[in-house]
Amino acid sequence: MGRIILLALEDIIGQKFINTLLNGENLSHVLDCIPPTNFDRQFSFEYLSQMMACIESAYGPRAGRGLALRSGQACFKYGLREFGPMIGVSDMAFRLLPLSTKLTKGANLFAGAFNQYSDQEVRVEEDGEHIYWHIDRCPICWQRQSDQPTCHLAVGILQESLYWVSGGKNFLIEETDCIAKGDSSCTIEINKQPLS
Ligand SMILES: [Zn+2]
Repeated sequence: MGRIILLALEDIIGQKFINTLLNGENLSHVLDCIPPTNFDRQFSFEYLSQMMACIESAYGPRAGRGLALRSGQACFKYGLREFGPMIGVSDMAFRLLPLSTKLTKGANLFAGAFNQYSDQEVRVEEDGEHIYWHIDRCPICWQRQSDQPTCHLAVGILQESLYWVSGGKNFLIEETDCIAKGDSSCTIEINKQPLS
């Protein structure tokens, strides 16, 4: 998953900036190149949250947020290639389900992949209108403090995953709670009704 995130960041922000991050004094002790394709857990939460902080301080909060969202969307494309067939969202039986079933089932399958293949802990809840994506252990804001929700990368991943699951529809997706601002989990609220 670390590899997927780095490839996505490279696509959106550029190889030069990522190399600067990888070789910078804050991060080079952890990792100095993009890790290979395997399931080793060598990409730490601390490392990811520091990268997000570096992007925000280099580009400012507004542009940094946009880049993080777009990087999250790119993460999904790389992630789908690696994890889609494994978790069952790429097969025809899934694609033929009605939209509301697909959203709930898709969210649970994606949460299962994060719980199984990373140390991130995700829980999915829902009511009539919303799906709530709770990250109880969040790598994106790990040990950060902020007065605003800060896990834009996760919002971007969910935007792109639901766009894909729904066959091209956009949804209102917003992070309402964030551990970095003192909440007990990072909660992303997904409106089940598509925008378009
Ligand atoms: Zn978070």
